[in-house]
Amino acid sequence: MNTILIIGAGGVSRVATTKCAMNKDVFENIVLASRTKARCDEIASDIKKMYNVDIKTAQVDADNVDELTNLINEVKPKAVLNVALPYQDLSIMDACIKTKVDYIDTANYEHPDEAKFEYKLQWAKDDEFKKANIMGLLGSGFDPGVTNVFCAYAQQYLFDEINEIDILDCNAGDHGYAFATNFNPEINLREVSSKGRYWENGKWIETEPMEIKMVWDYPEVGPKDSYLLYHEELESLVQNIKGLKRIRFFMTFGQSYLTHMKCLENVGMLGIKPIKHKGADIIPIEFLKTLLPDPASLGPRTKGKTNIGCFITGLKDGKKKRVYIYNVCDHEEAYKETLSQAVSYTTGVPAMIGAKLVMEGKWKKSGVYNMENFDAKAFMDELNKQGLPWKILELDPNKDFEIR
Ligand code: NDP
Repeated sequence: MNTILIIGAGGVSRVATTKCAMNKDVFENIVLASRTKARCDEIASDIKKMYNVDIKTAQVDADNVDELTNLINEVKPKAVLNVALPYQDLSIMDACIKTKVDYIDTANYEHPDEAKFEYKLQWAKDDEFKKANIMGLLGSGFDPGVTNVFCAYAQQYLFDEINEIDILDCNAGDHGYAFATNFNPEINLREVSSKGRYWENGKWIETEPMEIKMVWDYPEVGPKDSYLLYHEELESLVQNIKGLKRIRFFMTFGQSYLTHMKCLENVGMLGIKPIKHKGADIIPIEFLKTLLPDPASLGPRTKGKTNIGCFITGLKDGKKKRVYIYNVCDHEEAYKETLSQAVSYTTGVPAMIGAKLVMEGKWKKSGVYNMENFDAKAFMDELNKQGLPWKILELDPNKDFEIR
């Protein structure tokens, strides 16, 4: 029987687990394990009510390789889908090496004490994955994930050479709170308060946080202020897209979010090092996470759409060509299907698709890989079937950004 072991029981997991249940022909047996078993049971109970599929649940500390190894040996999954936090990537990968089971995740490794994410330590496991004859698929969310697949599709099917890529992430959803994050607050705030970085002519260029702002006109959403951030897919795309001269990443933020974030940063609430409070050690950003709305609770209140895509310029048959490949996802539609808002939905659906392609053997090689290392069409076809349909706009390559 084809078993999947899913680790983590937050917003992304709820969507990934629901979508696995909706693809029961591939995921014949689903086991959901996390630090707090009650959260797994809650997701399992909702899926039983909505889709009449049984999900088994378990407790595991995913920082502990021995506990993970015992659980994997007991469950005997064909693949492990890691939708816990980036801090657990290495321990879960190590447990997969020990037990010779394929591994999929959605975010690259980050050490809890340093707000710096990079693939180095995960790529370094390539030899051990090859020796164990298993596959590691890194970053199978939306960004990273689908954005890498869009770039790979452009390289494999639309262009002879790609010169410029702008990855655009617009969330035009409104949850009614003055300040909340759409996925894990700690990970989200560490990412957006860090320095920006983009790649041009073979060099990384660093910017101050939120220093570069552009207004992009997102199809089906409209114009939005968008800020340049460093984002993890840039690291692998720079290596894998031929002819690339520049790649940047932009994300939209509303004024209320930015004002709150600046204020929290100024008073030290985004700190990741322990401070003394009444004799006890506390980490400010962890305390802030406790105060902020749980992203999973935003589902029923969020209205509006996301638009995430890749604005790509290059050459085809000797002529300049430009496209915008994108998906639009509606928060309320996502909630109806999975009881989660679109940010969790757009991550959880590709997480399931990555696991599906690995379990079906359609994306299968020994070693550790990023999403653009495979034939993009198989993934693009699944996106259309599984709730994240995409569109391609052909744009005038001689006009400056004219997305509509
Ligand atoms: P949540 O905080 O909602 O959920 C994380 C889950 O992981 C929680 O259930 C938590 O347990 C569990 N967990 C944390 N530590 C451990 C541990 N040591 N052992 C076992 N379980 C643990 O996060 P999200 O669902 O919002 O995000 C999940 C992942 O998706 C993150 O890695 C995030 O970076 C990534 N992501 C990727 C995106 C993409 O497009 N690629 C976009 C958005 C998110 P508990 O319930 O006890 O707290």
